Amino acid sequence: MREFEYVAPASVEETLRLLEEHGAEAMVMAGGTDVLVWMNRREVAPKYVVYVGGLEDLRYIREEDGYLHVGALATQAEIASSPLLAEKAEALALAARNCAGPAVRNLATIGGNLATATPAGDLILAVVALGGKVRIRGPKGERLVPLEDFLVGPQMTSLAADELIIEVVIPIPAGTCGSGFQKLGKRKAMTISTASAAASVVLSADGATFEKVVVALGSLGPTVIHSESFERALQGKPATLEEIQNWRYLAGGDACPSPRARRASAWYRCEVAAVLAARAVEDALAAAKGLDLTAHRAAAKKRGKGIAGAIYSLTPPGFPNPCAVNLQMREDGSVVLQIGVVEIGQGSNTVLTQMAAEALCIPYQNVTVYTNDTGTTPYDFGTVSSRGTFAGGNAIIKAAEQVKAVLYEAASVAIKVHPENLYLSAGFVRDKYDPDRKIPIGEAARFAHFALKKLPIGTAYFYPKSFAADDKSQGEPIAAFYYHATVAEVEVDTETGVAEVTDVYAVVDCGQAINPLLVEAQVEGGALQAIGWALREDAQPGLTDASGPSETYNPDFMPVDLESYAIATSMDMPEVHPGYVEVFEPEGPFGAKPAGEISANSGAPAVFSAIYDAVGVRLYDMPASPEKILRALQEKAQAEPSPVAR
Ligand SMILES: Cc1cc2nc3c(=O)[nH]c(=O)nc-3n(C[C@H](O)[C@H](O)[C@H](O)COP(=O)(O)OP(=O)(O)OC[C@H]3O[C@@H](n4cnc5c(N)ncnc54)[C@H](O)[C@@H]3O)c2cc1C
Repeated sequence: MREFEYVAPASVEETLRLLEEHGAEAMVMAGGTDVLVWMNRREVAPKYVVYVGGLEDLRYIREEDGYLHVGALATQAEIASSPLLAEKAEALALAARNCAGPAVRNLATIGGNLATATPAGDLILAVVALGGKVRIRGPKGERLVPLEDFLVGPQMTSLAADELIIEVVIPIPAGTCGSGFQKLGKRKAMTISTASAAASVVLSADGATFEKVVVALGSLGPTVIHSESFERALQGKPATLEEIQNWRYLAGGDACPSPRARRASAWYRCEVAAVLAARAVEDALAAAKGLDLTAHRAAAKKRGKGIAGAIYSLTPPGFPNPCAVNLQMREDGSVVLQIGVVEIGQGSNTVLTQMAAEALCIPYQNVTVYTNDTGTTPYDFGTVSSRGTFAGGNAIIKAAEQVKAVLYEAASVAIKVHPENLYLSAGFVRDKYDPDRKIPIGEAARFAHFALKKLPIGTAYFYPKSFAADDKSQGEPIAAFYYHATVAEVEVDTETGVAEVTDVYAVVDCGQAINPLLVEAQVEGGALQAIGWALREDAQPGLTDASGPSETYNPDFMPVDLESYAIATSMDMPEVHPGYVEVFEPEGPFGAKPAGEISANSGAPAVFSAIYDAVGVRLYDMPASPEKILRALQEKAQAEPSPVAR
């Protein structure tokens, strides 16, 4: 990022003076959610950043003289939660609610959104549909410009370098009116629209006909565009849902997305333009007339269930997969475990602590794990292959045997019992023939340290049983098998192709669950990851359509960017019902098997089967994007004989 001077004027007047002084070398910054991204990408390099976020005078939402006034610094969060806008300009409130996520919404302003002038700008779209104007102040005074005139092209406005957006002014129509907003993106939050539409309607006094309809389309042209033919078609027509459906195809014709558009092909965008435009007008009509659209919208949705199972092997055949540990009991009876299994949030430190405590019959809080640092831990193969619990636990058990041997030797001297007759139980070393004859483990450790001058320490290496198969494919290539099954329930929107996973029932065979809560968390995390693969995470070589490869063409099959490789957010999390089956695994530590990677493995096929169950189209390549589903649905419809032909 180039060096810049940061200035934070205290008033609009001071801001205007600075802008006049520095001209094109200055850049206004409000929330900074666009400016900082551009600066970071070196797309802009202003010499002066003029921070206006402190101008509280420009942060308001109020009604005055039949107009709504939204100050340029009103944030998306404030707009989203404004009762006034929810009542009188619902499209704007909805657009704000659909922007980004809470953190961005708390900073991002309406002035910034408008000035950005992107065809995907959600607030821009709503303000156009509501017939809003922008009040701009500059050295020559103020002007009030219809937003459409303000937007002169993609990322281009009529704003001069020395001008500031002061507010957005939205007329409140007299009579029965309403507005609506629809957005389609790759996921439910933190997504730029693939296509979007906003609409406002004014009905005749009796509510029977459309007096005025405005439909704005977003991400469907170089800038926000009006669907003029759809608007004209509805003008004067009965204000009914049927009428909207009859004419919606016109909106698809008005859309003119770039053939090299990102996020979806031009074909798909035109298809959904009609659907979104119709739905936005329906929302506006519903707001005006107080209609409930639940049943109407449900008609386009189909539900289905799918099931899939997975089998996974612990360690690849014949692959070296060792885990080494140092386990040392200190003179106070506490234990230090040095192990290379790395905690990356999966909970391995917890499980390793549990197993060390269990192996030595001491409380968890008496175990300290040292990990994540090759300077202080012995060798481990890595946090891969679902092996942490299995390999780490087995190594701990082996090392604990050596610690126990020293403790038994110390206890045998201290309480005069033959070492072979000793065992550990509830913090004591006890005589198995007379359990009341005992010594606390800590005392035995102290005795070992100071009387025997021996360190109760164990160092162990564990290699899972895994040998490469011989030339006749015989051998013992796998340490253990484990299993997983998923039932997914989906809802497919047959008009847009959007599939949503509503419920996941997932069960893992984890051997003995060392920590049931962590097993369930693995199953839940795996389910969300699988849904991402199934529906969103696109690492394909770019989108193509009739005009050839798009700008996302990518022969290396790598994710193009984090926009196309859209990882599911918490908002996309369905209801996950996790479960596990406990089957004691003789090769595993305390009977445990892995639960990690496999938890993600059967989710995607279950989702694909559920889509087939819902709408009868079987897809094979991930992700099952809305575009692929819609295309498959149309091909299926074309292949089916028409009722007349039958
Ligand atoms: C993770 C992420 C997700 C996003 N998701 C969405 C989304 O879903 N929908 C969407 O529409 N946008 C989205 N955006 C874009 C961005 O948040 C919006 O465009 C936002 O409204 C910009 O407002 P801001 O105050 O942050 O603008 P800034 O970044 O401060 O400024 C943006 C532009 O506006 C100019 N400007 C700002 N205020 C004024 C003013 N008062 N007068 C004159 N010029 C001004 C600046 O000079 C700059 O050119 C996203 C951004 C991020 C980083």
